[in-house]
Amino acid sequence: MKKMIQPTILILAAASLVSCATSGVQSKASQASTTPQQALQSLKEGNARFAAGRSRHHDLRAQAEKTSTGQFPIAAVLGCMDSRASNELIFDQGIGDIFSARVAGNVLNNDLLGSLEFATVKAGAKAIVVVGHTRCGAVAGACSRAKLDHLTRLLDKIQPAVSKVSKSSVGMKSGPAFEDEVSAENVRQVVSQIRAQSPLIRKLEKNGKLIIVGGLYHLDTRKVEYLN
Ligand SMILES: [Zn+2]
Repeated sequence: MKKMIQPTILILAAASLVSCATSGVQSKASQASTTPQQALQSLKEGNARFAAGRSRHHDLRAQAEKTSTGQFPIAAVLGCMDSRASNELIFDQGIGDIFSARVAGNVLNNDLLGSLEFATVKAGAKAIVVVGHTRCGAVAGACSRAKLDHLTRLLDKIQPAVSKVSKSSVGMKSGPAFEDEVSAENVRQVVSQIRAQSPLIRKLEKNGKLIIVGGLYHLDTRKVEYLN
């Protein structure tokens, strides 16, 4: 006599197959019910998965289809354009999960600030994460006062961080460790600039509707260290 397979076992087996590829996306309801702390926690958990080599298998086609008529990202990430520091990858996020702004040295300008205002004030993102990284070429360029046409003015934006770390670090005025300190300081300054320059974002944060944090992505450990 054939043994009957319990329906519950079939359901569990189907569920485990689905969990192999995540096709879920953020909805208006899920975004609305996400707190700023939960949005940040989601990124922290995503980075932990990435660092451990356990990133989710995103069904990108399914996610693209589901988000084609609307997006409800829970966070906005301002990161460097470095090819090794993709915001979506290092935080293991899928299509429609985060706004991703990238520029060499993760510096701030009015266009980026406007983009962050759109992401938070208009589109409902609950967290702004500014993330620099170790061994950043833009930061190294600023430290060595590199000059290259349009790049020169971009690197000028990192000079205040170079100056501050130069004054505070005894003996250490160059090298990878010095540059990583500058990367971290640059992130802190960009976070301060966002607060100082955008009354709209400041108001959201003051009302508890937004969290703004800075982090440093370590290329060697794949982990984001959060900065005070
Ligand atoms: Zn960089």
